[in-house]
Amino acid sequence: MQHDHDPDCIFCKIVAGDIPSKKVYEDDDLLAFHDISPWAPIHLLIIPKTHIPSMAQVQPEHAPLLGRMMVLAPQLAKEQGCEPFPEGGFRLVVNTGDESGQEVHHLHLHVVGGPHPWKQIL
Ligand code: 5GP
Ligand code: ZN
Repeated sequence: MQHDHDPDCIFCKIVAGDIPSKKVYEDDDLLAFHDISPWAPIHLLIIPKTHIPSMAQVQPEHAPLLGRMMVLAPQLAKEQGCEPFPEGGFRLVVNTGDESGQEVHHLHLHVVGGPHPWKQIL
């Protein structure tokens, strides 16, 4: 499958292998890797390989891709050591736009978990 690629985008560079990352999952459409500056003991980013700038650009045809990201999140959280629900669990965050704190303009799902303390992000 051909993916949209923005040559100035840091996550597109990670998809292309031009910037290294600690990968935890990859398939034809999705990539997941450890956040370089974690908010908590477990902090993963799940991204589509295609360059979608944010949730604000999401279209109906992206529904299967977004659905797969959401299904992958609990699987990777468990694999990476999040304790089971309800005592454990994880937090999913998708910042969208500057006011939300989005710094990288390539859609990404934060998967955050593990024992506290966590960095306060709001
Ligand atoms: P945002 O603020 O856009 O929701 O989140 C972007 C996240 O990407 C931040 O948590 C930041 O630490 C992470 N990040 C930025 N650059 C890199 C990088 O080059 N590699 C990795 N693994 N994470 C990055
Ligand atoms: Zn990109």
